[in-house]
Amino acid sequence: MKLFVYNTLTRKKELFVPLMEDPDYTWPKKDFVGLYSCWPTVYRDPTIGNFRATFTADLIRNTLKLLEYTVKSVMNITDVGHLVSDADEGEDKLEKWSKREGISAWEVAKKYEDVFKEGMRLLHIDEFDSMPRATENIPEQIALVKTLEEKWYTYTVPGDGIYMDTSKVEDYGELMWPNYKKRLADLNAGERVNMWGKKNPTDFALRKFSPENEQRQMERDSPRWKWFPGWHIECSAMSSKYLGNQFDIHHGGADHITIHHPNEIAQSECWFDVHPRVKYWIHNEFLQVDGGRMWKSLGNAHTLQDIQNKWFSVLDLRYFYFMAQYGNFQNFTWDQLEAAKNTRHTLIKKLQWKRIMKDKKDFESDPIFQQAIEALCDDMNTPKLLAVIQSALTMWWENVFAIITWLENNLLKLWLFDAIIEENVDIPAEVSLLADQRVQAKKDKNYTLADELRNKIVTLWFQLKDTKDGYEITKA
Ligand SMILES: [Zn+2]
Repeated sequence: MKLFVYNTLTRKKELFVPLMEDPDYTWPKKDFVGLYSCWPTVYRDPTIGNFRATFTADLIRNTLKLLEYTVKSVMNITDVGHLVSDADEGEDKLEKWSKREGISAWEVAKKYEDVFKEGMRLLHIDEFDSMPRATENIPEQIALVKTLEEKWYTYTVPGDGIYMDTSKVEDYGELMWPNYKKRLADLNAGERVNMWGKKNPTDFALRKFSPENEQRQMERDSPRWKWFPGWHIECSAMSSKYLGNQFDIHHGGADHITIHHPNEIAQSECWFDVHPRVKYWIHNEFLQVDGGRMWKSLGNAHTLQDIQNKWFSVLDLRYFYFMAQYGNFQNFTWDQLEAAKNTRHTLIKKLQWKRIMKDKKDFESDPIFQQAIEALCDDMNTPKLLAVIQSALTMWWENVFAIITWLENNLLKLWLFDAIIEENVDIPAEVSLLADQRVQAKKDKNYTLADELRNKIVTLWFQLKDTKDGYEITKA
């Protein structure tokens, strides 16, 4: 079956023809489909919105594998030098968090890389084939900037950085909007303030110099300047290192369509003299919360920990992600997550003891299997896929279970056959009251009373665990 994907570059749903099958592709023969995905900077707890992007990268990879492509997947770890604003201004996020948490920028990066990878593990997202760190690919970034300098694409703003002159880049901004030439011309005509010595509003930093009298933790000495790497350059350096001068799919969040990805395209295409550098650009839309944007300051930028604190399994969230097509906005509410959980639990109950392992060839001509694959081939339409599974479950055929088993193992990974459902834990008011009284007793240093209250809770068949923020109650 043929895969169709929505390509942001052409604004069309297109037939996926990998470079290795593309007659126009003249570079050394490839024997894999290359997939590169941008991941945000590792400087704080990733949100469920960040993980929607990781989920999408995983979905693309798994779909390609289901269609029997050999895939080489790369996701970069941005552990250096990302500025607060995409437009080369503001503080370095890692430096900022390092000050806030009182640990070094390197420790911040390591800490949050671990949190990120643990989140992937909980969400049943396998690690990608390569997960290179920006800090471990500095020579590649230096070489890239040097080549662009030699090709006269750059200029230096003294005391600031080395910039890419986007006016010299043919088709700069092609990814941004369908009518990008007109919109960029308007932008260039309008915006002449706050240019900090830049020649064009869209020019971007390839490398930033460290401010004088200020030591950045991650700065480097070069023969000419003290500097720190910019954020766009790392993706070009690492994607070419692992996937070659041209590759098949570049994925990222929709927030990268107007700045980061056009800049990646510009510097890479000028570097290698290729066009298009990437054949298919796939972007997942934002995850909204309660119908609006997710903001740290609104307290709605939920993390996986928040999900678990409310008694959900992270796999309920995984099911929730499947409920929307990746290219559409998805609205997160606790009710929606509850609905996802209930549906997942119903599936688990229906499927208990019905795992049937069969060879794919034994069911691949089955209409149910065909419909499931058709849904995935339609730009990875996961809501359609879930609907196919739901309607299949009204039939009691052996193949239905074999097909769902196969989908579960290769794509869904929702523990549909393994989970044991705990009935909803409703904490009686009486138990919560005892727990609250115990918090007070502990504050009053009345430990005898605190122990008595804990014992009372136990006799009511609940367990109490102390946590950083108070307590957790579970069924005994
Ligand atoms: Zn990137």
